[in-house]
Amino acid sequence: MIIVMKPNYTPQQLEGVVTAIKAHGLTPHITYGVETAIVAAVGEFHVPALDPFEILDGVESVKRISQPFKLGSRQVHPANSIFPVDGFTVGGDEIAIIAGPCAVESRSQILETAQAVREAGANALRGGVFKPRTSPYSFQGLGEEGLEYLAEAREQTGMPIVVEIMSQTQLDLMVKYVDVLQVGARNMQNFNLLRAIGETRKTVLLKRGLSATIEELLMSAEYILAGGNKQVMLCERGIRTFETSTRNTTDINAIPVLKSLTHLPVILDPSHATGHADYVAAIARAAIAAGADGLIVEVHPDPQHAASDGKQSLKPEAFAQMVKQVKAIAEVLGRRIAPIKKPIVAGW
Ligand code: PEP
Ligand code: MN
Repeated sequence: MIIVMKPNYTPQQLEGVVTAIKAHGLTPHITYGVETAIVAAVGEFHVPALDPFEILDGVESVKRISQPFKLGSRQVHPANSIFPVDGFTVGGDEIAIIAGPCAVESRSQILETAQAVREAGANALRGGVFKPRTSPYSFQGLGEEGLEYLAEAREQTGMPIVVEIMSQTQLDLMVKYVDVLQVGARNMQNFNLLRAIGETRKTVLLKRGLSATIEELLMSAEYILAGGNKQVMLCERGIRTFETSTRNTTDINAIPVLKSLTHLPVILDPSHATGHADYVAAIARAAIAAGADGLIVEVHPDPQHAASDGKQSLKPEAFAQMVKQVKAIAEVLGRRIAPIKKPIVAGW
């Protein structure tokens, strides 16, 4: 249920609405507008009749939230959610570019890649240290050692770091090191993990599951939002279809669909969506043209010898070229690539 307050509502009237919502066993979530406020009442209980709320002082209108996702819905929060990630904002006019290797493999590999993507215009550095591999015999990631290298790369370049968390048991460690918690496709419906992340105040990049619908993605985001963590970016990373010529099929439709259903920023991952470096730039361009708020791209200095996802990783030069193209498309749409922060290390 959404309760819209009258433009001249008083704090006491808002408090009255909050009390009435709680009395029904529901949780109030307030979104403040310029003149008004919208109070969403969400919870397990069936929302009672609307009339007891309609007659409360200061209330303009009451309606049910028709979608199953509530806090993520544009009905509750009509404006885009715009939030800061160290050094840039996401969800507004700026387009955020996150880049780096699939996995952190060594200190020199991540430092070299960080420097290269930073020079090409990336705003944030990605790198997995716990890798969700299909085979238990494949490289599983460097764990905490990898986080230390990422922290060093952040110190050198000023870029925040985006790292995948695979389990609740990693939460304390990850919160200590990372700026953005990435929830991978395979964990999109790990509800215990989502709830635990909802209790933190770390920015989240939530990837769509391999065969998840858009609604399921939004319901997963809801687990995080319900805990009070509002900084959630959604990521389209390709879905499984009958097509086998690419690793996944980019659901480009998901971008405008998500943008209309939710106020949360939408990012696209052209690397996992295609699985092939040759197609990454084309899909990155398409994503920005379709209205994505950012990109997350795999870049490796030596893709042939990458420990994971080398086939879909761009070399730094190809990434730099992609950034230029994406920048041009963003400008046509009145947007711009988020400016990069001033370098921290002398000589940069
Ligand atoms: C990744 O980003 O390296 C990754 C494993 O992605 P996804 O969860 O989308 O497969
Ligand atoms: Mn990968």
